[in-house]
Amino acid sequence: MADRRRPMRPVAPLPSGDLPVVAIVGRPNVGKSTLFNRLVGRRQALVADTPGVTRDRKEGLAILRGRHVRLIDTAGLEEAAPDTLFGRMRSSSEGAMVNAALVLFCVDARAGITPADEHFAQWVRRQGRPVLLVANKAEGRSGAASAMEAYALGLGEPVAVSAEHGEGLADLMSEIVEHLPPEPEPEEPEFPEEDFAVDGVDLPEGEDVPEVGPKGPMRLAIVGRPNAGKSTLMNALLGEERMITGPEPGLTRDSVAVTLYDDGDEFEVVDTAGLRRKARIDEALEKMSVSASIEALKMAEVAVLVLDATLGVHEQDLQIARLIEREGRACVLALNKWDMVEDRVGTRKAILDRLSISLAQMRGVPVVTFSALTGAGLRRLLPAVRDAWTVWNARVPTGELNRWFEAVLERHTPPLVEGRRLKLRYMTQVKSRPPTFVIFGTRAELLPEDYKRYLVNGLRETFDLPGVPIRLQLRGTK
Ligand code: GDP
Ligand code: GDP
Repeated sequence: MADRRRPMRPVAPLPSGDLPVVAIVGRPNVGKSTLFNRLVGRRQALVADTPGVTRDRKEGLAILRGRHVRLIDTAGLEEAAPDTLFGRMRSSSEGAMVNAALVLFCVDARAGITPADEHFAQWVRRQGRPVLLVANKAEGRSGAASAMEAYALGLGEPVAVSAEHGEGLADLMSEIVEHLPPEPEPEEPEFPEEDFAVDGVDLPEGEDVPEVGPKGPMRLAIVGRPNAGKSTLMNALLGEERMITGPEPGLTRDSVAVTLYDDGDEFEVVDTAGLRRKARIDEALEKMSVSASIEALKMAEVAVLVLDATLGVHEQDLQIARLIEREGRACVLALNKWDMVEDRVGTRKAILDRLSISLAQMRGVPVVTFSALTGAGLRRLLPAVRDAWTVWNARVPTGELNRWFEAVLERHTPPLVEGRRLKLRYMTQVKSRPPTFVIFGTRAELLPEDYKRYLVNGLRETFDLPGVPIRLQLRGTK
């Protein structure tokens, strides 16, 4: 399994305008746009439905292995170009290639190498830019073999991918980053390291670490009350002003998902832009933002609860936190506007104390402090989401669970109910996402609430399940 607990590495500051440019070139139909969308993580559907906004997005920001790059898709640029295939390919690529730190030369592995590919490859080689050869449509078992044919182009070893099926993308991202010039030192001073501790998501070492890894994208929702900085955060993650400038659908249920890559992991951010916009104009603003959160949470696996750290914890924050628990989502607490916080240690403690007093399930929740506005500290967010997701998917082996359970029962005997002892026999984890445990025993269903809470807290601490709601069910046996 991929090591999801890798230490966090520093990444480049957020987009500053002089990001390395990666140009995607190749003949029509090899899958350039599909690849572009994969790497930028923007679904074509986001813009395609809006009249007059079709295919106008040729540039986008991608975070590949922690590096921000500006991608240029040359597909579609051919339209106004000279009327030969080669002429069109050349004129669409020329502009994009001038400043490219890297050119992705795409071919169609299924169609094989065509004379147009060869001709174009010769020309591209003469431009003197670093080139990475991408053999697309190489899905399935025969994919890698047909990709090899592209060797003949003399552009080095082809990287086999399937943009459509999402195969080989992690390798491609690594290759891209390796071919880029070294990244400049960040200009902006970051906050001191200790400000960014991501608390409480260490999984136990060794074989107890559950064997989980995301199959598809990890879905996250950004929730919080108005003005916490959700839109700013979303824009910072996406690297552009898309949400503010996006089309005004005037709908209340137009949530869409935006895909984002971080270090090879795919995240899908449930984007409730429309819901929020509606909330802004709605008189019952506070109420609306809660219902927007519910919508987003239903579709998400991990909730990023954004708080304005300068304002502390308000009732509405707690209300949203309770929703996260009710919906059974993993939670990452995002303390935003950290640039404005003076007493960082005190602020952090006050917020965490308030949350854990009001909501037992928030105990040990992973915390990330950042400024969505400047981008400082933001690189910690997606790794924290990944870790929370892992905990949310955790499985505790039954043997271990019962060894712990027996010890607990011995240490702290369940109380008498109606003068009789409850016989709790064993415990098992029936599901994950979120972790759900069942206790079987005679009259187990009568176990008092405070004892249940005691067990839930014990489970959380012993098996390291911070920041996820833990469900505990009781089944009486005869
Ligand atoms: P472009 O003209 O180079 O931008 O190509 P497009 O991205 O528009 O893709 C051309 C066609 O190839 C579309 O029908 C895509 O769905 C399809 N396509 C793209 N990538 C793949 C892939 O990895 N495998 C397969 N089988 N088809 C793909
Ligand atoms: P939303 O209602 O949760 O989407 O909040 P917005 O993203 O619209 O942000 C509300 C206000 O807070 C805006 O004026 C932002 O510029 C500001 N803001 C957001 N993030 C930060 C931050 O990290 N630091 C500072 N100082 N201001 C921020």
